[in-house]
Amino acid sequence: MLENTKKKLEEQKEELRSMLERFAEEDKRPEGDWDTKFPKFDGGALEEAADEVEEFDSLRSIEHSLELKLKKTNEALDRIKKSTYGRCLRCEKDISEERLEVVPEAEYCQDCNNKTKS
Ligand SMILES: [Zn+2]
Repeated sequence: MLENTKKKLEEQKEELRSMLERFAEEDKRPEGDWDTKFPKFDGGALEEAADEVEEFDSLRSIEHSLELKLKKTNEALDRIKKSTYGRCLRCEKDISEERLEVVPEAEYCQDCNNKTKS
């Protein structure tokens, strides 16, 4: 069971990395931080430049959410190593298997997750 989860997390990690690599560069300091590459201007019209800035902004927000998910995925893999995987970081109860099935990188049980959101 844990082996499958580990595999799933590793696949997710590779997938996230390859998505990020398409438009961002990994920043080695701090580790796990990514920077969106600014699209190159080719001396086009001003509107074109504005479009690229807009595109850059949306890429940057996508980059942030991918980066966060990648970070959580790495942390979940770390917890597997430390045998603390599947335990809620807040109340220390076991996170339900159904939840881990959907969100393998989950840090909190459903209850705590609802609480942190509100
Ligand atoms: Zn909890």
